[in-house]
Amino acid sequence: MNNNELWNSLLAQMQLHISRANFATWFQNTEVSTKENEKLVISVPNAFSKEWLSNKYYKVMLKIIHDMDNSIRELEFIINPRSSKTLIIKENVEQEKINIEQLKFDEFKVNKDTNLNPKYTFENFIVGSFNDLAYAAGSAVSENPGNIYNPLFIYGGVGLGKTHLIQAIGNKIANSSKKRVKYVSSEKFISNIVAAIRSNSMESFKASLSPIDVLIVDDVQFFSGKNKSQQEFFHIFNSLYEKNKQIILSSDKQPNAIPELEERLKSRFGGGMIIDVNLPEYETRLAILRAKLQEKNIALPEDVLEYVAVNVKKNIRELEGALNSLIVYYRSNNNIPDVENAKKLLKGFVFSPFEVANYKKIIEVVAKFYNLEEKNLFDQTRRKEIVRPRQVAMFLLRKELKYSFPEIARKFGGKDHTTVLYAYKKILQESEENNKLTEELNLIKQRVYSG
Ligand code: ADP
Ligand code: MG
Repeated sequence: MNNNELWNSLLAQMQLHISRANFATWFQNTEVSTKENEKLVISVPNAFSKEWLSNKYYKVMLKIIHDMDNSIRELEFIINPRSSKTLIIKENVEQEKINIEQLKFDEFKVNKDTNLNPKYTFENFIVGSFNDLAYAAGSAVSENPGNIYNPLFIYGGVGLGKTHLIQAIGNKIANSSKKRVKYVSSEKFISNIVAAIRSNSMESFKASLSPIDVLIVDDVQFFSGKNKSQQEFFHIFNSLYEKNKQIILSSDKQPNAIPELEERLKSRFGGGMIIDVNLPEYETRLAILRAKLQEKNIALPEDVLEYVAVNVKKNIRELEGALNSLIVYYRSNNNIPDVENAKKLLKGFVFSPFEVANYKKIIEVVAKFYNLEEKNLFDQTRRKEIVRPRQVAMFLLRKELKYSFPEIARKFGGKDHTTVLYAYKKILQESEENNKLTEELNLIKQRVYSG
């Protein structure tokens, strides 16, 4: 790989680790200046970028680069104002921040009234068994806001499409009615509340929210531990809810599982419809790749797509990132990538599940999920609250790690391997009949694979 390819590939991968807005802010107009022995010198447009890249992203960037070219052990950032095509350098950092804020808006065309990004639509939202309920509920809400599921609460692991879905609902309502929609991230919402408390302007802040017909709050798990903000959110929630205004929330976990969240908020959050999004299966991953390519009007060989779908399984954001790497390669080399190229390019994405999901991790996650101590799983007891989690652990060791039944039996204190076989069959069968168990298994798997 030459320096440019290396850098393009890094850029494609960094997009996975940070938000788009941050990406545009910090990586715009960066390029490789030179490579000096073990050091890669990167030119950045200003001191602001230099500081952020070297303080915040150094480690992850070095890891990505080193994975692609293991002769590189160090990165250095130099300021080269001429490389800046769009950023105007101002002495005053505040002024610069404003310019960058502006850039974010221009770049992504976020609607100033609704705060929604128009690129998130139902039309480009792919539906499979992993998210069909969430999709169905979302589209029902978009057709009849305020009247069916209120609030609509969508939860699931990162990169599984929560933001996409809740914004798609917002866009649909905003485009098909006169209703006033507002999307806000929880971080932003909390900082607005804190600012309003500080400046004694809570009343006017609330008044500014009262004309809203649809309030969408993303990642509400961030309210955890923020007591003052929770109190205010509770009142804001109630006043909208009482007026039949639609509220849509997302979170990485169910309301009840969010720590340090007031009971009354948990109960409000859970008072409408709660639905999860899961990890897509192989077939769906392949479908997602095909659809994304079609959107971009690009074709890639089928075996390359299959390679990506088999190997990149963490979430949809990673799938997109992997695909972007291939597209960048395709465009910059004018050469259609084959499976060998893909293997090299996707080193940073492809992980063997065996590396992430190991014995220790499964035991740890299962125990935690059922509020047990790890050693409890090995207790010689028939107590129901232990037996079930133990069977789940055995099931996952078999299913995810392909442990043999006797091997699992040994791990669990020399039980007869038919006991393990029985546990496996029981969980398998029940999970096919019982949605609650399926959901538990999915949540556990998400945690096991989330690194
Ligand atoms: P989350 O909010 O759950 O972390 P996002 O909504 O940000 O995930 O999704 C990550 C990326 O994957 C986004 O670029 C999004 O457009 C894409 N994506 C997620 N789910 C889907 C889907 N069902 N169909 C198409 N693209 C999706
Ligand atoms: Mg999100």
